[in-house]
Amino acid sequence: MSGVQDPLEGCHGLHVAPLRRGHEQLAWMSPAARCGRVRVRRHTCSHCVPWYEFCVAGGLAFVRRSADGVIHETAWTMAAEAERVWGALLRGAAR
Ligand SMILES: [Zn+2]
Repeated sequence: MSGVQDPLEGCHGLHVAPLRRGHEQLAWMSPAARCGRVRVRRHTCSHCVPWYEFCVAGGLAFVRRSADGVIHETAWTMAAEAERVWGALLRGAAR
């Protein structure tokens, strides 16, 4: 018997943890129109909205958030700072 479709089938990969109390408020901005190729290094499950991508471009890095076609991103920073933000986001310590 396999007639019932599991709605979470194919839903794996990274997911952000539930938001914690006292979490860090990230500044989400409209995408910066910068030149240079943006590479997505990591991303959360794309079946779950919003989803997040860790992006690097030109020696800087940032986190991109996509929800229903609306895209925002954090400030472009040094990779180490963007890694910190990415980690906090996944743990539910920032959003
Ligand atoms: Zn998912």
